[in-house]
Amino acid sequence: MTRDPLDILHETFGFRSFRGVQDQVVGRVLDGRNTLAVMPTGAGKSLCYQLPSLALDGTCLVVSPLIALMHDQLRAAEAVGIRAATLTSVDENREETIARFRAGELDLLYVAPERASNESFRNLLRQSKLALFAIDEAHCVSEWGHDFRPDYRLLRPLLDSFPEVPRLALTATADAHTQADILDQLGIPRDGLIVAGFDRPNIRYAITPRENTNAQVAEFIAAQQGPGIVYAQTRAGVEKLAERLGGAGRPVLPYHAGLDPAVRRRNQAAFVASEDMVIVATVAFGMGIDKPDVRFVVHAGLPKSIEGYYQETGRAGRDGDPAVAQLFWGADDFARARQRIGEVEAARQPGERARLTALGALVETAGCRRRILLRHFGEDAPETCGNCDNCLSPPSAIDASVTAQKFLSAVFRTGMMYGTGYIEGILLGQSSERSLMNGHESLSVFGIVEGDEVALVKPVARALLLRDALRTNAHGGLEFGPEARPILKGEKTLSLVLPPKRERRRRSKAG
Ligand code: ADP
Ligand code: ZN
Repeated sequence: MTRDPLDILHETFGFRSFRGVQDQVVGRVLDGRNTLAVMPTGAGKSLCYQLPSLALDGTCLVVSPLIALMHDQLRAAEAVGIRAATLTSVDENREETIARFRAGELDLLYVAPERASNESFRNLLRQSKLALFAIDEAHCVSEWGHDFRPDYRLLRPLLDSFPEVPRLALTATADAHTQADILDQLGIPRDGLIVAGFDRPNIRYAITPRENTNAQVAEFIAAQQGPGIVYAQTRAGVEKLAERLGGAGRPVLPYHAGLDPAVRRRNQAAFVASEDMVIVATVAFGMGIDKPDVRFVVHAGLPKSIEGYYQETGRAGRDGDPAVAQLFWGADDFARARQRIGEVEAARQPGERARLTALGALVETAGCRRRILLRHFGEDAPETCGNCDNCLSPPSAIDASVTAQKFLSAVFRTGMMYGTGYIEGILLGQSSERSLMNGHESLSVFGIVEGDEVALVKPVARALLLRDALRTNAHGGLEFGPEARPILKGEKTLSLVLPPKRERRRRSKAG
């Protein structure tokens, strides 16, 4: 080692101190020990290999999945005076880069993973002095992760052929299971895992079942101040919501891939400059935008995964001031997600299913949301945070197994082909032409639900869909999922979380 890491931190990067786990990660790397650093976006992952690349003799090879990303990082590295280059198919100065690399004139060399299997590239590595392998976006190596890239599997043989060169894997999005998989795949010992810094204490998390999405979003926004992002799931959803929110007295603009690029750029720029705008967008919006004062992020439907939820809500409150993340979800979100999972290749299904189950647990919990989020990323968290909906007004949980059994038997007795609304009508004893013609009014379940229990029917249906006790077929009809029979037989219970507000409304109606 030629220079003191703290001197490099001050002199080259101009930072007064390490942030979070950076010193821990850098320390391990300088000791030559293999490491996996799991740090959220913005925590300063690049410094963890950039600094060692200056402190150590030789070049740090950085594996990165996207060429655009590499060029951004190259510019950032060069800006602080690091000798860096990219070696990709689009670079025209490849020969010059190779010569610099051979001559030991590079601190950092960025490459794409597919280069790893290339024999001539390996030979090149053998002719040069390597200080470190940095594997960025390391979750791509795991089939369990949300962005598996087969090329990442080519890295292990390459790493193993340079056993004396330490490895540093980095990612912002890996749940505990994916973390373990990355360690295995890249040959990093368990004690090489460093996870930290996921908590965003100024963000208040709130999650609410959906009744009328557009009205709920409008009501939520009316109570907020400052600029905010509303995520809708589809382009059509974006358009509809933007139109609905437009009349609310503050500027509202849409953003999705179907818009003309010039319009998109204009809307984004207007949002970044605004102090009270609401931008309604698909999840593509927000990546790489620099707006620290976003005061709220609303999800008008279920995000893809907890990782996605964390990343999207993380766009709120980067300035550290209070911000709110509000999610509205419906049972149909889960039904649709399950359908999609059925369509992906078999090998990826277990991972996708686990991701959905984790989301279900976050949405359904009566406990602290933050705790579930942090533990998902392998970080420890106290029992309560004091800044999520459930901690602020603890919901009551009730055992709704009996209502669930009634619902399931109504689905069963009517032949597993009707939708939620019809089943509800049967349970409440609402006579209709359809139920008369079907002869369903003589079933024992007809009108079996009354009084206080009526209010439980919709939440029970939602919970049954979420648990995979019910599934929807292509025509919207309900049928049994694998979890139906255990509940019907009383082997499993179904408890319902009732938000305090809903409970109050129910009481005042009943009284
Ligand atoms: P990540 O890759 O984890 O998303 P970056 O490496 O892009 O994060 O760093 C995010 C920002 O934090 C950058 O602007 C970087 O300059 C800054 N940063 C990194 N380390 C420190 C530090 N120790 N002190 C202050 N700022 C830092
Ligand atoms: Zn909490």
